[in-house]
Amino acid sequence: MSQRSRIDPAPSGLLDLDPRWIKAIQRSLLQWYANHARELPWRRRVTPYRVWVSEIMLQQTQVASVIPYFRRFIKEFPTIGALAASSEQDVLRLWEGLGYYRRARQLHQAAKLVVERHGGKLPTHIALLRQLPGIGRYTAGAILSIAKGLPEPILEANSRRVLARLLGFKGDAASSRGTKRLWEAATRLVPQEDPGGFNQALMELGSGLCNPKSPLCGQCPLQQNCQGHHLGIASKIPLVRRKARSLKVQETAIVITDGDQLLIRQRGPNERWAGLWDFPRLSMAKLKPDVIQDTAKRIAKQELGIPISRPRLMTTIQHTVTRYRITLYAIQAHISSRRGPGLTRKGAANAPHYCWAGAADLESLPLTTPARRLFQFWKNQSND
Ligand code: SF4
Repeated sequence: MSQRSRIDPAPSGLLDLDPRWIKAIQRSLLQWYANHARELPWRRRVTPYRVWVSEIMLQQTQVASVIPYFRRFIKEFPTIGALAASSEQDVLRLWEGLGYYRRARQLHQAAKLVVERHGGKLPTHIALLRQLPGIGRYTAGAILSIAKGLPEPILEANSRRVLARLLGFKGDAASSRGTKRLWEAATRLVPQEDPGGFNQALMELGSGLCNPKSPLCGQCPLQQNCQGHHLGIASKIPLVRRKARSLKVQETAIVITDGDQLLIRQRGPNERWAGLWDFPRLSMAKLKPDVIQDTAKRIAKQELGIPISRPRLMTTIQHTVTRYRITLYAIQAHISSRRGPGLTRKGAANAPHYCWAGAADLESLPLTTPARRLFQFWKNQSND
């Protein structure tokens, strides 16, 4: 297309998209995608279930991180029925390390509902799909367009950025006004022919050429008709909202052993990492080496009801959860007596979410990421 044939997206406002511009964008994007689509496991054999699992895993997560998880998950749970019949613990174990565990719990709950209400098949009506836990407008649109060829629009981080730039949208693309406008644009743009290819192409372009910091407009198939590029403001779109400052936090975990058993605790439904297992936490943020012995003993007795002996600092690890940069001190200690209100081998009536577990149990239970690291550290040290 020559420079003279450039088409403005919307001569009189965003909602009034020029049909010639729409056609030009659809054609260029689909042509480009036909030659540049990445080989990804969920694109090999497209089914609603595989698209669903991949889209849930891809939320807030890079493609490269998702690939091995997707492969393992589909191998273990090849059908919605198999997923529904599994335990939440098995699902969380396969999800371990991918983060945002609510996604896994909701996927599991939704699979059960699909079996109960829809005979094990994902419904093809968008309203029914959106009644399932974890399936919002975006995920429903992705499943129906990619796996069923229905002209449903999508809007997620990558397509949001591409659309905002194509339209030269100068406002806050994440605000409710921006979101409404961009959904409208996505609805107008999604073609009847190959809507799944078009939606995937939008996301693919956004994850590569039209990346957040330095869009590679010179290589982009949409450059000719991109308003953001034309106005020279592509890299300033979307407006970046100031991120909340990260917070430094100190926490303390305790690895208590009783022979070859370790004390673990399942995180509660309203806690971070709900459903996963962790080492007990103690409310002693600042650890002074000279008082760690006495303080750890006293607090373990107070908070866990367990007398411990020989507490020592085992290791310190750093990890990040959302905006919290956490320094986790890990104390190692031995149980000194099973007498008193301490936990029995099966937990205790007032603390059923605690239990003693051997190393083999910890291999198969879903652990929080820091607990997995501490367990690995403990094992390496025990083998030395
Ligand atoms: Fe993004 Fe540039 Fe392509 Fe426009 S021309 S869609 S800003 S990469």
